Amino acid sequence: MSVEAIPDPVPGPGEVVVKVAACGICASDLHFIHGEMPLPAPTPLTMGHEPSGTIAAVGPDVPVWREGDPVSLHAGKVCMACARCAAGRLEECRNPQVMGIHYDGAWAEFVRVPWYSMARIPPGVSFEHAAIACDAVSTPYAALIDRGTVRPGERVGIWGIGGLGTHAVQIARMAGASFVVAVDPIEAARERARAVGADLALDPSEDVPGAIRDATHGRGLDLAVDAIGRSAVVRQAMFSLERGGRIVLMGQSMESLDAGPILFLSFLGTSILGHLGYSKAHLEQVLDLIATGRLDLSRSISDRLPLERVQEGVERLTSKEESTVRLVVLPNGEPPAPGS
Ligand SMILES: [Zn+2]
Ligand SMILES: [Zn+2]
Repeated sequence: MSVEAIPDPVPGPGEVVVKVAACGICASDLHFIHGEMPLPAPTPLTMGHEPSGTIAAVGPDVPVWREGDPVSLHAGKVCMACARCAAGRLEECRNPQVMGIHYDGAWAEFVRVPWYSMARIPPGVSFEHAAIACDAVSTPYAALIDRGTVRPGERVGIWGIGGLGTHAVQIARMAGASFVVAVDPIEAARERARAVGADLALDPSEDVPGAIRDATHGRGLDLAVDAIGRSAVVRQAMFSLERGGRIVLMGQSMESLDAGPILFLSFLGTSILGHLGYSKAHLEQVLDLIATGRLDLSRSISDRLPLERVQEGVERLTSKEESTVRLVVLPNGEPPAPGS
């Protein structure tokens, strides 16, 4: 990784250029930087898929949006070539591209995006919170509410209490879960999980299924979310579930899944559900929930770094020595207050 000067992007038809106010550093960025997952785009590539900012330039054929509008950026582009795109089902595109992975992202002063990828930031939401609303909050929101179909009164477990997992605990509470358990090897992460609403926080080296059965009168969980992407987590989650329970795979890795004996899954009627990302509707709902105070992100910004120090942020997240929710990069200095 290096920080280099490149020409400012110019918007083409249907595109805008956004002056980036803030952009999160995500654990999934690390997998690509460290070569654990294959990067689908040729390098050099500008990473960063969790940005907010202000529209700096509007290209031809862009509806409604104007220079100066404050926006969160959904990290996706559609292919406009598959059968679903041709049918106008853009949200269901078969070959979606992800910002900062397939095309240049927002660890930069300016980023070029399609007009349909933007969501307006509601009054009162800071640029930092509007940035992490993309992915760090919207992905667990989509994973729990849509993919995991969490219902009021259900018992929910979250494995991995980092950026996405911390918000998953909050979303489970907000959705009306009657019991939320958080599992993480780091004490500071377990403490944070309790502070944001977990009823129980466990170290994965403990007898997690046993502790969950004790705490739920022998019943276990309706929904388990793996925010890490490990077979060991899925097996532990599987043995923590109530009959008919669901596991949502929210963490990404190249590890092969070994979820234990198929007979157990069949006998217990367990569903294992893959999940990636979030839709524009999720992002807009999350921004509204932040604006109305239903979702409190006051603990979510762990540190703020200028663009020159993005590498330091990546190293800090890699070392796992500190338990962070989100480190954010501020490429254009201190962002303005919302609405100013
Ligand atoms: Zn991410
Ligand atoms: Zn498509």
